Amino acid sequence: MKQFKKKQKNNPSASSSTLSKWDRKYVWHPFTQMQEWEQEAPLIIERGDGIYLYDVHGNKYLDGSSSIWVNLHGHRHRTLDTAIQHQLGKIAHSTLLGAASPPSILLAKELVNIAPKGLTRVFYSDDGATAVEVALKMAIQYWQQQSPPQKKKKTFVRLDAAYHGDTVGSMSVGGTARFHERFRPLLFSTIALDAPYCYRCPLDLRFPSCRTACLDPLEDVLSKRHEQIAGVVIEPMVQAVAGMITQPPGYLSRIRALCSKYNVLLIADEVATGFGRTGRMFACNHERVTPDLLCVAKGLTGGYLPLAATLTTECIYEAFLGEPEKTFFHGHSYTGNALGCAAALANLEIFKKEKTLVHVRKQSRLLQALLKPLAELPIVGDVRHCGMMAGIELVTNKETRKPFPLAERMGHKVAVECRRHGLLIRPIGNVVVLVPPLTTTEQELRKIVNIVTKGCRTLC
Ligand SMILES: *Cc1c(COP(=O)(O)O)cnc(C)c1O
Repeated sequence: MKQFKKKQKNNPSASSSTLSKWDRKYVWHPFTQMQEWEQEAPLIIERGDGIYLYDVHGNKYLDGSSSIWVNLHGHRHRTLDTAIQHQLGKIAHSTLLGAASPPSILLAKELVNIAPKGLTRVFYSDDGATAVEVALKMAIQYWQQQSPPQKKKKTFVRLDAAYHGDTVGSMSVGGTARFHERFRPLLFSTIALDAPYCYRCPLDLRFPSCRTACLDPLEDVLSKRHEQIAGVVIEPMVQAVAGMITQPPGYLSRIRALCSKYNVLLIADEVATGFGRTGRMFACNHERVTPDLLCVAKGLTGGYLPLAATLTTECIYEAFLGEPEKTFFHGHSYTGNALGCAAALANLEIFKKEKTLVHVRKQSRLLQALLKPLAELPIVGDVRHCGMMAGIELVTNKETRKPFPLAERMGHKVAVECRRHGLLIRPIGNVVVLVPPLTTTEQELRKIVNIVTKGCRTLC
């Protein structure tokens, strides 16, 4: 035992090769073709500091994906570390079933404070997918508990290429065929509408009227079928997993108006866009929209712990009051986890203390300027950007906008090139995706865009 310890301490490469072997022997990675994975040495991240990650060999990387869109203020942030340690000194977890806890109470109050006006109740869960699952179930039960009951309102409208998570309900309102097609037999049917993919839209965006004309089909569906529709599910402002598809101005507020007009609930999935990612606390703030249900997760704890919440209005909450049968029968073992809530409270404190939103808006303008020259490259078709999220779409032909065949894995090739230069990013098909932590400095942002530009150039 003693010898083992000594070996680990003095010879880190020995232990890293063991880890590498054991990872391939025991771990099944998400969204990963394991046959391919087993053939390569895995990247094993051992620690982080600010926006940098360090692997077991001591190599340093810029965290260009915010560890898949969760990290906001960098790794090992003192306020977050301290808050969790402090909470750990009291208790790590106690249940919200039949009991309450200080961190979950304080966090709910804070969330209501910063959320779009009118959202007054907080229901906790663990992940983005469960936050969406909760919203769907709340919507269905809400309509059943109207007087008279509106039991026919049980389907949802969703956008093509939407992504809301990988549980069965959230997959049903998702449209990422590549991920979900296998599970079709499990999924309930929904009404799908085209995504507002301006780059590949036949309408001419120079005319302002075209900007929201892509919502005419929604009005059509709602006017004909609103009696069967429980809600419209959207990712406001940016459809992230779809390839950072940004929505035209006015799009979100028109959806809100249509939902109100036809008495259908609006479910906003802000799992990716929430907590400053788009330059406002929530993407809905850009168009002063209050959804009926708001789902948050990823950035909620600053990227530290799995915690999610579904926020809703007093009106929806009140529909669940009364007889025992009206109870919302949903919960998870770790609902309202105290460590997670403590981290989330610290996260919100940092927003105030460090004026994070002001910084993001400044960096967002810089990012837009830095990305501009990239659009000139022969393989870059479109550069899309909102706050601290950006997508660079690669095409074989700039004129015809013809995409690369997915089998060529162009996005992946750019990412491999970037990793060689010390930047970790995760592409989506032909779209190179940049989602750096909100605290990224000007110098770091320049470095990130330089590496991506180099990566794209290599493939031209
Ligand atoms: C990531 C994501 C989810 C799923 O969140 P998980 O925590 O991975 O379950 C849902 N919706 C959107 C918009 C996301 O980006």
